[in-house]
Amino acid sequence: MTCRVRFAPSPTGNLHIGGARTALFNYLFARKKGGKFILRIEDTDIERSTKEFEKSILEGMRWLEMEWDEGPIYQMQRMDRYKAKVQELLDAGKAYRCYCTAQELEAKRQLAMKEGRKPKYDGKCRDLEPRNPSTQERCSIRFKAPTEGTTVVHDICRGDVSFENKELDDLIIARSDGTPTYNFTVVVDDMDMQITHVIRGDDHINNTPRQILLYEALGFPLPQFAHLPMIFGPDKKKLSKRHGAVSVIEYQEQGFLPSAMQNYLARLGWAHGDQEIFTKEELIQAFDLEQVGKSPSVFDIEKLKWVNSQHMLKLSNDEIFDRTVPFLEKRGIKVNDRTMGIKAVTSERERGRTFDELAEISTFYFRDVIEFDPKSKDKWLNDEGKKTLSVLVERLSGIEDFSDHNIGEVFKKLIEETGKKMLDLAQPCRVALTGTTVSPGIYEVMAILGKDAVLNRFKRAIAA
Ligand code: GLU
Repeated sequence: MTCRVRFAPSPTGNLHIGGARTALFNYLFARKKGGKFILRIEDTDIERSTKEFEKSILEGMRWLEMEWDEGPIYQMQRMDRYKAKVQELLDAGKAYRCYCTAQELEAKRQLAMKEGRKPKYDGKCRDLEPRNPSTQERCSIRFKAPTEGTTVVHDICRGDVSFENKELDDLIIARSDGTPTYNFTVVVDDMDMQITHVIRGDDHINNTPRQILLYEALGFPLPQFAHLPMIFGPDKKKLSKRHGAVSVIEYQEQGFLPSAMQNYLARLGWAHGDQEIFTKEELIQAFDLEQVGKSPSVFDIEKLKWVNSQHMLKLSNDEIFDRTVPFLEKRGIKVNDRTMGIKAVTSERERGRTFDELAEISTFYFRDVIEFDPKSKDKWLNDEGKKTLSVLVERLSGIEDFSDHNIGEVFKKLIEETGKKMLDLAQPCRVALTGTTVSPGIYEVMAILGKDAVLNRFKRAIAA
């Protein structure tokens, strides 16, 4: 049987790290097995679902290059189907109408809490003689769940997880307004879509026994289940906004590569030996649910940046430049000279771990006036430093071909004559040219900037 998996986000927020990881594991699994990856939009929460969130989720999926084979399928368009299935259970005596009011249930809940009992439906309407409600009567539909025995989830990632049936409530499958509830729609959908493997976050594990009972009641074979370990922030608490960006699109905006994001997300809860860096093809080849661990993984932005830097290193200089341009533009920089731009940006490519970082550390090349970092200025643009710069202005002016090599010759000669250390020459230059004391090789920086810019910056630094 071909395997069929699904990603089923609710459009009540953007695609977040956890959701993207779930989508990715489904995607990789489908590709590895030559199966189908289905996208289902669980939009029944009409108060919290929006079209914008849906759009943003699809955008995130596209950015991460997780092409789906079927869908999006919208739950809101399947209401008739759920209603028919609810009726089927009613007719079979496997579900019943519950006439308890919300107030009544709330009062019972409060009492249970007060008495230290676990709040649970007391089954008041469970054995009422079935009848058609009058038009004024409001009732919900409950699933008649078994009260004895054990339901075992055979989970690919977690092993067997057992639930006592008596602990599970008679679940409401349709509210009094007729709308079906989450656990019911998921089961009907997964059945209809012939899902073979339900791969989702660990936060759904408590829903699974209820869903298994519904499968059994509807007479449908069970899919396999795989619950993925949670993702924590560095403080070992569930990943949330407190830990920084949780929305995938924000990482796009910060200049991460989709391939790196995929790579990083795949390693959250899954490992393949010691390998850290994977192409998409390698991920598909290597991925398996059996190698998904049980323990939560920690989202570590520094590690993500490192993975990104490793993926950036594989790009050509042209591509590095093109991907950095939008981030330069964000800083008000328009690059007119492409050849110079490529040299400038790629001179920093080993240091920039994201395109945003790369743009940030390359801006000095493109600004007319650069700002001096105060500490660097105090340390290196002192009388001694300025004297060095004055001598360099004189000597560098004489160079016809302003190349790394020729600039280097000027420096070497000066070191010979003065006995100064390279650092004492280079650092005032760095501050004058870049504003800080960290930059690529100083001859390279100067050659890229060109003679006029270098001399102007030196003169400005001397006057500062
Ligand atoms: N819509 C659910 C969620 O966003 C997913 C349900 C499922 O995967 O079964 O958490």
